[in-house]
Order: sequence, then C-alpha cells, then structure tokens
Amino acid sequence: MKLHLAGGCGEHGRNCFLVEGNYTSFLVDCGVMAGEAGGGFPHLTPSQISSLRCVFLTHSHADHTGALPWLRGQGYTGPVIASQETLEQLPFHVEAGLPLEELCPDGSGRHQHIRIRWGRSGHCIGSVWYHLTLEHKSLLFSGDYTEDTLLHTVDPIRGQSADLAVLDCAYGHDDRAYEEVCGQLLRRVRELLDQRSTLLLPVPRYGRGLELLSLFAREQLPAHFYGDAHFLTQVQRAQADPFWYRAGTPLPSVASAEASALTGGVVFVSDPQLRTEAAQRLAERVLDCGGIAVMTGTVERGSFSEQLLQAGQMEQLRYPVHLNFRQYQALFQKNQFDVAIPYHTAELPPPITVLPL
Ligand SMILES: [Zn+2]
Ligand SMILES: [Zn+2]
Repeated sequence: MKLHLAGGCGEHGRNCFLVEGNYTSFLVDCGVMAGEAGGGFPHLTPSQISSLRCVFLTHSHADHTGALPWLRGQGYTGPVIASQETLEQLPFHVEAGLPLEELCPDGSGRHQHIRIRWGRSGHCIGSVWYHLTLEHKSLLFSGDYTEDTLLHTVDPIRGQSADLAVLDCAYGHDDRAYEEVCGQLLRRVRELLDQRSTLLLPVPRYGRGLELLSLFAREQLPAHFYGDAHFLTQVQRAQADPFWYRAGTPLPSVASAEASALTGGVVFVSDPQLRTEAAQRLAERVLDCGGIAVMTGTVERGSFSEQLLQAGQMEQLRYPVHLNFRQYQALFQKNQFDVAIPYHTAELPPPITVLPL
C-alpha cells in the first residue's frame, strides 16, 4: 500500500491524499490551491483517477473540496463520503454523496474493503477526522483540527493506533498557545474599535466567524454586532444544533448588516476573500465611514481582500482554527502512530511525496 501526497504538504491549500492498496484506491479530500494558474488542482495522473473507488471529504472548505468538479470532469463518478452537513454545504452538486451518518451511524462502519471510524474535528460545522483500516494497515487523517474551540463540538483524537497519521499543522512554527493568540487579537480589536469605530470581519461561510462571535461575547467586547443573511442563519443554527455545537453556548444578538446603519461595532461578512459584489458593497460601506477590515485567515492572491490589504485598509490578525507544530507534536504523543506527516503548511515540506506502508 502507498500514500501519495497529491497536495497539501509543503503548501497551504490543495489538500489531497491518495491511498493506493492492492484492492482499492481512494482519496481523502480533493482541494484546490487558490489563485494558482491552471486551477491549482491536485497532482493526480489520469490512471490514478480512473482507479479511484471513492473519495472521503473531511469538510467543505474549498482547499479540501474545490477540485471535485475537476475530478468529475476527469471521469470520476464514484461515491463521495462526508458528513451530511458537509455534503449540503458544497457549492456544487454531488451525484453520489454517501453521508457518514448512514454509512457509519454510530461512528464506525464499512465501505467496500475499508473500515471507517470518524469523529468531529472541531474546525467547523460538519468537519470530521477519519480512522481508516484496510489490507491490515490503518491510517488516521485529522482533517483541519482543533480542540481549542469555543462552540463547536469535538471528539478528541486520543489513544488511537495507526501505521500512518496525516495531521493538521497549518500554523507551522507559530508556537503561541490558543489563549495568547486570542489575547493579542482582542487587544488589537479593542484598539481598532476605539480608533475606527467599525470593523469589517470577512469570515468563511462555516467555522471561524461563529468562533470569533463567541470570543467577543465571552470577553464582553463593548460593540454592536452585524452580519450578512448567511451569518445570521448560522448564529441561529448554532443555538439549535446540539450535535455540531455545544448546547447552551451564549451568543450575543446580531443585527442584519444590510438593514442597519452600521453605527460602530463589528460587521461579519461570510465571504473571506470578498469576491461577491454584495460583500464588496458591505466592505465599502464600512470603509466609507472610516472603518477598517480585519482578516483572521489567509488572504488569497488576486482577491478583493488582497487589494484592501495592499491599500492599507485591512489588517491581519490570527484566530486559531488549526494546530501549530507544538500542538501537532502533542497530538502525536497522545496516540500510537508509527509515522506522522504534517500537512497544511509551507513551513514543513515533506522529503518525499510517496510513502510506502
Ligand atoms: Zn478548513
Ligand atoms: Zn484547510
């Protein structure tokens, strides 16, 4: 058996791992590298694609799923296995979606020759880790993973054995602990609110935005909160879904950004790169009244967010939804993995791209 690193190791984006056994061959994630010429698709040959029997998805973010339409265009029509929530979040249609909840209703089950166990990974609604066993070998894929979450539920990866583990290490050598990063973010957000009155926070459609709202609520940030229609829906869901969100998480009330005057406070827009016209209009409203944008994730090349950053109208502050190298090592030590591979960072390139198992 072999694991091919088809993307996502030594880079931030294009997450895609090909497992080739004697009797089956499958992918875990199929993401794109945003802003790369040619589409930034995974490094897969036509014969590797034609041998695929299934695709597992850890969550819906484009760096894990954005190459699925391309894969379909290359001839793949087999099953796509993910949580029901992830399948529903995809911005394109998947014909052969197989929800984990049906395949493995109590967290474990089987598909073809593969024994599957999964758990919630704490990164966003619908995100999971996988423990897969086939042909007397086992592999663990953490997906994008964090235990430092203020409102997502997480099934910690503990005491697991695997021949090989592919673990989130997106923050590389940034060794700061979660609370330290949050403290720095909060200090700067308070300063910016004093100076600029209104802040625009472009956030992914699922994940980090609600975490930030929870943090601001926990710290009693003196601000009004606004959100676009999608953000408002996510706030409602978080208070009514005890599987993906912790029951009883207190969230402040959030007003509609479209229907409000935005008089001081924090405005959440569910479009991290500000690609849509509606998001750009909202950004201009905030900037026109003296406000500033704050990016808490990665700015993609060629995006409107990048333009704002270059024009000094956006600041970058981190809110952690991944692991750093120290946390990656700690996770390694809490389990029995023969070999582990860090992924999701350019700071730790792998020495080889095909690992025998
Ligand atoms: Zn993600
Ligand atoms: Zn990711």
